[in-house]
Amino acid sequence: MDDVVEVSCPWCGERQELWVDPATTGQMVQDCDVCCRPWQVFVSRDELGQLQVHVERS
Ligand SMILES: [Zn+2]
Repeated sequence: MDDVVEVSCPWCGERQELWVDPATTGQMVQDCDVCCRPWQVFVSRDELGQLQVHVERS
C-alpha cells in the first residue's frame, strides 16, 4: 500500500510528497514546507483501499 501521495500546495503550487499514516482518514491540518501556509487535508480511501487525498486552503 502506498501511503505517500504527491500534492500541489493550494497556495504556492509547489508539488510535495505527503506521508499519510495508514490509520488516518478524515481531515487534518498541515503546513506547507515551502510557504508555511496551512493546508486542510482531506484523507479517504476507496473500496480498493487506495488513498484519496484532497488539499484545500485552510
Ligand atoms: Zn505552499
